[in-house]
Amino acid sequence: MVKELFNSFIHPWEIKAMYNLKFRDKIRQPKKPLVELIDGLDDRDFCYTALTKVSRSFAVVIQQLPEDLKDPVCVFYLILRGLDSIEDDMDFAQEPKLLLLRSFYEKCEINNWNIEGVGDSEDYRVLLKHFEKVIGLYLSLKPSYRKVISDITKRMGNGMADFAEKKVYSLDDYNLYCHYVAGLVGIGLSGLFSASTLESPMLETEERLSNSMGLFLQKTNIIRDYHEDLHSGRIFWPGEVWDKYSSEIGDFEKAPTQASSMACLNHLVLDAMQHVEDSLEYMSMLHNKQIFRFCAIPQVMAIATLAKVFNNSKVFTSNVKIRKGLGAKLMYYTNDMSNLRFEFHKCLLDIENKLNPLDPHYLVTKNKVEYLLNITSKEWKNPYYGIQYKLYRMVS
Ligand code: MG
Repeated sequence: MVKELFNSFIHPWEIKAMYNLKFRDKIRQPKKPLVELIDGLDDRDFCYTALTKVSRSFAVVIQQLPEDLKDPVCVFYLILRGLDSIEDDMDFAQEPKLLLLRSFYEKCEINNWNIEGVGDSEDYRVLLKHFEKVIGLYLSLKPSYRKVISDITKRMGNGMADFAEKKVYSLDDYNLYCHYVAGLVGIGLSGLFSASTLESPMLETEERLSNSMGLFLQKTNIIRDYHEDLHSGRIFWPGEVWDKYSSEIGDFEKAPTQASSMACLNHLVLDAMQHVEDSLEYMSMLHNKQIFRFCAIPQVMAIATLAKVFNNSKVFTSNVKIRKGLGAKLMYYTNDMSNLRFEFHKCLLDIENKLNPLDPHYLVTKNKVEYLLNITSKEWKNPYYGIQYKLYRMVS
C-alpha cells in the first residue's frame, strides 16, 4: 500500500480513489480455499462466494449492476468460468472433454448435475463438484435470462471444442477464438441487459458492437500477458503476426528492446485498437447508469493497459500493469460518456507520444490514433476537462 501511495503521489486524485477502494469497498477476497467456505451455504450464497473466490475484480464490478441483473450476470459468469475451466484442464482426456464442452449447456438444465475431478485448479474443481448450486440459481431465473445464457453457453462450448483440435494461427483464427471466449460474453451481456428491460430490446441485436467490447478486452489481456503465458507454456499471440518478426515466439523475451520485438508488439496493439470505435459506440447506446459503469470500467482499464504496453519492451520480460491508483481512479470516476471519452482521449495521447517513426506500422498507427483522438475530443475542449487535461499533461 505504501508503495502504491508513493506511485500515485504525483496523481493526487488517485489517492482519494485508492482510499475509497481500500476502506469502503466491502468485497474482500477470502484467503481460505473455496472448499472451506461453502459449508451450509444456499445456492445463491454459494454462487456469490464462488464468484469472489474465482474473480475478485468481477465480484466488484458486478456490485455496480442494478439489483435485477446481479443474479443473472453472476450465474452467467460462473457457468462460463466452469466451461473455461473444463477447456483449460490439461489432464482431462480429449474425447470426453470435447463431448462435455459441446453438451455443457444441456447439463445446465439438469437439476443436481455436477462433475468431480474436472477443472484446472482446486477452486474450479470445487466449483464444478458443487455445480448443482450454480444450476439451482440458474433454474430460478426467469426464462428470458435462461434463454440468453443457454444460447451463449452452447455457442461458446462448441467454439472451444472446435479450437481444441486446431491452433490459433491466422488473424481470422485469432478473431474467431476471441469471439468464442470473449465476444460471446459481450453478446450475452447485451442479451441480459435487453431481457431486464433496463436497456433497449435493440441492444441484443447489436452483435457486432457487443462482440467488439469482448474482443477489445481479450486482445488487450493477450498482449499484456505475453510473459506470463509464455512461461505457463501457452501462447495466444497469432502466428500470422509474430512469425513476420521472429522464428520463435520465445525470442522476443531474449531481445526485448530489439526493433523487431517492438514492431510485433505494436502491430498487435494496432490490431486491438480497431475495436475502440465500436466499444465507444456501444457504450453511447446505454441508458442505465449502473449498466454503463459495469461496461465502461473494464473498457477504460483496457485502454489504459493498452497505452501502457504500447512500445513498452517490459511486456516481454515482466507482467506490466497499470498503477493501482490509476485503476482505482478509473473505477470511481467513470460515470458518463464525457468522462469515458476523456479517459480514452488521454490514453490515446499517451500512445501518440510513444509512436516511433521507425516502426513499420508507424503511419497506419498514427492515422488510427489521430482518428480516435478526433472522435474522443469533444469533451475535453470544455473548460473543466481543459484544466484537468493541462494538469494531467504537467505530471505525466
Ligand atoms: Mg480457456
